[in-house]
Amino acid sequence: MRFDILTLFPDMFPGYLSQSILNKSIERGLVEIHVHNMRDWAEGRHHKIDDTPYGGGPGMILMVEPVVNCVRDVQAMTSEPGTVIVTTPRGQRLDQPLVEELAVNKRMILLCGRYEGFDQRVIDILKPLEVSIGDYILNGGEVASMVLVDSLVRMVPGVLGDEQSSWDDSFSRGNRMLEYPQYTRPREFEGESVPEILLSGNHGKIELWRQAKSLEITKKRRSDLLED
Ligand code: SAH
Repeated sequence: MRFDILTLFPDMFPGYLSQSILNKSIERGLVEIHVHNMRDWAEGRHHKIDDTPYGGGPGMILMVEPVVNCVRDVQAMTSEPGTVIVTTPRGQRLDQPLVEELAVNKRMILLCGRYEGFDQRVIDILKPLEVSIGDYILNGGEVASMVLVDSLVRMVPGVLGDEQSSWDDSFSRGNRMLEYPQYTRPREFEGESVPEILLSGNHGKIELWRQAKSLEITKKRRSDLLED
């Protein structure tokens, strides 16, 4: 799976990319991430990429020409142009089913907005998929892109130590519910002990207990997940 991230703040990425699962997946060749500075596509001595909004109002808007040129050049870097995704509060809200749908893509180009966002013509011309990570406002699309990358790489076969996780975790394709409670050593701490059944070695019973707990917490906290 290849990601091309288009941003005005490329330095936000190296720390995130060099850690844990992501770093290992990159080293093992399962995931490729290329970060591009959109400002490199802006003309003139000052590489101006933003301007004030027509009609007035606060803030600056990312200009259509450098952004569209940047996307087209980056698309042409490989034979597979990839799916263009714009991070925006107006987009389709990201959830695990959408993550699973997006995971069929071999290549994704992620556009990170800043300031007041992109000139509308970026959307009208490129016709990207617009994705929001939730009903709140971030300062930029960089963290939203990291959320996309982080959730998507888990879908790449070989990335997770145990493939089963991508089925069983909360919200995932295995059951779309919240996960049951988990425990590890010690058996008792400050008077709180691990449920007896988990120590029984009876896998059938443990599985039933976990299903029941999963249903219980989902009913209590997220009954909307049970509607389908
Ligand atoms: N003026 C815009 C918000 C701009 S926030 C509006 O009111 O809709 C600046 C940038 O941060 C956006 O262009 C987008 O790339 C990113 N961003 C902010 N909130 C986001 C969210 N909830 N999901 C995805 N991206 C978001």
